[in-house]
Amino acid sequence: SSQDHGDGSSSERHDGSAKGGVSNTVVGVLGGGQLGRMLCQAASQMAVKVVILDPLESCPASGLAYQHVVGSFDDGDAVREFAKRCGVLTVEIEHVDAVTLEKLELQGIDCQPKASTIRIIQDKYLQKVHFSQQGIPLPDFMEIDNLANTEKAGELFGYPLMIKSKRLAYDGRGNAVAHTKAELPSVVAALGGFDHGLYVERWTPFVKLILDLSVVLYSFEFAGAIICFLRQSTLSDFLGAELSVIVARARDNSVSCFPVVETIHKNNICHIVESPADVPNKIKKLAVDIAQKAVKSLEGAGVFAVELFLTKDGQVLLNEVAPRPHNSGHHTIESCYTSQYEQHLRAILGLPLGDPSMKTPAAIMYNILGEDEGEAGFHLAHQLMGKALKIPGANIHWYDKPEMRKLRKMGHITIVGPSKNVVKERLDSLLERETPGSH
Ligand code: ATP
Ligand code: MG
Ligand code: MG
Repeated sequence: SSQDHGDGSSSERHDGSAKGGVSNTVVGVLGGGQLGRMLCQAASQMAVKVVILDPLESCPASGLAYQHVVGSFDDGDAVREFAKRCGVLTVEIEHVDAVTLEKLELQGIDCQPKASTIRIIQDKYLQKVHFSQQGIPLPDFMEIDNLANTEKAGELFGYPLMIKSKRLAYDGRGNAVAHTKAELPSVVAALGGFDHGLYVERWTPFVKLILDLSVVLYSFEFAGAIICFLRQSTLSDFLGAELSVIVARARDNSVSCFPVVETIHKNNICHIVESPADVPNKIKKLAVDIAQKAVKSLEGAGVFAVELFLTKDGQVLLNEVAPRPHNSGHHTIESCYTSQYEQHLRAILGLPLGDPSMKTPAAIMYNILGEDEGEAGFHLAHQLMGKALKIPGANIHWYDKPEMRKLRKMGHITIVGPSKNVVKERLDSLLERETPGSH
């Protein structure tokens, strides 16, 4: 890879060489984080050239990209210059300069997905308004801009009340929960105040108890028969969960969905992803229908991740959409015939979509989050990866981020195997902490 500082002189929109790859269109990616890195990995297999725009010299994708332009994806001039070297422009983060993208499109630059999609999605409130106008089921939401209407929202929706930043949100960093009316001022202040652009959502209760509950219940032998009945009929109906569906749309508008997965969040951050989701088929169908409807209302090619809530009473509500590859699709690299990254490239390059179905019966993905700052954090992560090397079916991904911070996504591990229980057991054995003095 080569780094340069944005003059664009040495590159072409199409790789003119006769050999070429599957496509000789140069793909420009706004952002060079872990998603950009994994896009580069998929591109390399097909010999497709990817150039990235990211301000950080040693960003995760920099070592794998064909070229890395050091510059901000939120700076109109930088994006305009960058676009000159790309045959198609795409994103690995939605917090880019959407106004510039809309202007570039008018000048004939090919953005996939379309700038209008990025503009709608990057403002989570606008996104909610858009989807509610499409008749897509969502948790109730309301814009707030002063204490009086925030209190009003609290009366309407009750507590706990979810307060969210409209913009620049990721990994739950723009979210905060008020448990009582008295907490509202401090929660609003923690999110930067009303000037920052806030809205509220009704709290959606979903608890994931299927596993723990069944373990407890199974331990009562005499209850076995009743439990079998419960597990098969009602248990998964009255326990909610978070689901995600990745929908790919090609340039010819053909659509293809990856299997519905279950995502388990801890402190608002994605923690574990299980594929396929352990929910009844009718729920899966509902999730796919809503996801497809949401994606149909947005313009452009690429993969889109649709985050959903499954409520205790069996409703499926849309949480948010990401217009790009997503954390809930990392597992597809090892578990599906076509990964979400390859699918995204196929979609934006006008190639046929690949087969998104699973080639392994079960997969589980675990995010490696920073547990400590600096060296201590690196040490813990390296220990975990060392352990994973000994686990059958485990695949390590380390993003090579220059700095370790608490709760930052540093890497992930995907375990594939012959059944849901086996991959879960393998993950349990990976995460078992050695108790002090056990040597
Ligand atoms: P991402 O990293 O996915 O972009 P984000 O910062 O945009 O995250 P959200 O997706 O809005 O944040 O919320 C993060 C998590 O917080 C959700 O996955 C869910 O676990 C929880 N959450 C969000 N909204 C609600 C809600 N209305 N009720 C209950 N829990 C919620
Ligand atoms: Mg988000
Ligand atoms: Mg989210």
